[in-house]
Amino acid sequence: GCKEVQEALKDELKEKDLRDEVKIVETGCHGFCEKGPIMVMYPEGVFYCEVTPEDMEELVEEHILKGRTVERLLFTEPTSDDTIPSYTDIDFYSKQQRVVLSNCGKIDPEEIEEYIAKDGYEAVGRVLTNMEPQEVIDEVKDAGLRGRGGGGFPTGLKWQFAADEDSDKKYVICNADEGDPGAFMDRSLLEGDPHRIIEGMIIAGYAMGADEGYVYVRAEYPLAIDRLQKAIDQAEEYGLLGENLFDSGFDFKLQIKKGAGAFVCGEETALMASIEGKRGMPRPRPPFPAQKGLFGKPSNINNVESFANVPYIMREGADAYNSIGTEGSKGTKVFALTGNINNTGLAEVPMGITIEEIIYDIGGGITEGKDFKAVQIGGPSGGCLTQEHLDLPIDYDSLIEAGAMMGSGGLVVMDEDTCMVDVARFFLDFTQSESCGKCTPCREGTKRMLEILEKITSGEGEEGDIAQLERLAENIKSTSLCGLGQTAPNPVLSTLEYFRDEYEAHIYEDN
Ligand code: SF4
Repeated sequence: GCKEVQEALKDELKEKDLRDEVKIVETGCHGFCEKGPIMVMYPEGVFYCEVTPEDMEELVEEHILKGRTVERLLFTEPTSDDTIPSYTDIDFYSKQQRVVLSNCGKIDPEEIEEYIAKDGYEAVGRVLTNMEPQEVIDEVKDAGLRGRGGGGFPTGLKWQFAADEDSDKKYVICNADEGDPGAFMDRSLLEGDPHRIIEGMIIAGYAMGADEGYVYVRAEYPLAIDRLQKAIDQAEEYGLLGENLFDSGFDFKLQIKKGAGAFVCGEETALMASIEGKRGMPRPRPPFPAQKGLFGKPSNINNVESFANVPYIMREGADAYNSIGTEGSKGTKVFALTGNINNTGLAEVPMGITIEEIIYDIGGGITEGKDFKAVQIGGPSGGCLTQEHLDLPIDYDSLIEAGAMMGSGGLVVMDEDTCMVDVARFFLDFTQSESCGKCTPCREGTKRMLEILEKITSGEGEEGDIAQLERLAENIKSTSLCGLGQTAPNPVLSTLEYFRDEYEAHIYEDN
């Protein structure tokens, strides 16, 4: 609804002869989806939410002309001393730590000058004029950045593998093929701050000696593609992409490749096959992409959020970055909060925050005052965590120990009324239909598992079904070719671990 609001605001300002006095800046997402459309009035920073075109007359009249706040559009009431709450007074924001999202909702993503005004491209200037490629890699290693796309592999080490390869041609690839149900972090970053990703990729290219980059974005993200393309064009105009950048002798060009929405193309080797114009199917490794990747050349793939962290690390230094987070998981993580939670939206938090803090302090708790039952972390590859995990710190290792995984950052919250067998069926249905069919355990095994789950949820389950599910799950996990198959059974296994009684109730009580 933002476009309609903006048009109504423009009309209203024109009518009051204020069009030249008030600047309207269209930003990317503020993250607080539950309360959108959002409008922040500066210089006061008053945060208006759920605004409609009909509200514009009153907002212009009251706020702009008379300097009075429109209280009914505020998120929280003014305090007793009449202080108007601003952006930073709202729990949803004040409990976050915004590093990669620091510009989202604040700058116009279609104006490179706004990014530059927020210290954008400072890091790339510093790197290309003052640092050797190996120093850049060492800084990323010292920062402790781990891949934000799911696996959590150390980013600096990954860059080192590609840098160590001797080749006349190398590629840097950004994986923006975000496909988990309930995940929209990468999309918001690309829409809200595309130059940050470009800057991260230029630095990566310099560090490993790659002169060409691709951003693989799903075609279902037209606004992200449009803004990223505009950002690439502007960066070229400003001499930030092209030949001999900053007189360093380093060349770097960047292009977008649209993906057609196959979930498996998020897997590195399938993604590269897709860029090459082939069917997006994983292939066995070795050779690893760092040795033989895109078009047979050494390549490095990181996801959007990983690249978005790089400018901060190179500008502020590894120590500033690794002072955030836990021993084994440094920095922040962006999560997409969805499901039965009051404040759905996008939140960036320091690693090590507990699940309870995210769900209750930032997320505002469960809808309709119901009890929390479980949260699915890590999308279809992840697992369900329960009440007993509320105080679990969110970091790569603790989540794996508890049977879930960080994944890309989707957090689907479920209330007391949710049937966990249904949840497992939903996620397995997703992975089953996204299986590329190349290897038998995933292609056939997930189908058989889904059939059993459908039987159970329709009240026709029978003795032996649970054991068969577990057998299939273990086989699929250990013998599938790629991560999609290897992790597909996770939602079933974790719900079986924590909610076995619900499976049994379907089998023994529904009949
Ligand atoms: Fe394809 Fe599944 Fe095998 Fe991966 S595990 S290669 S998605 S069939």
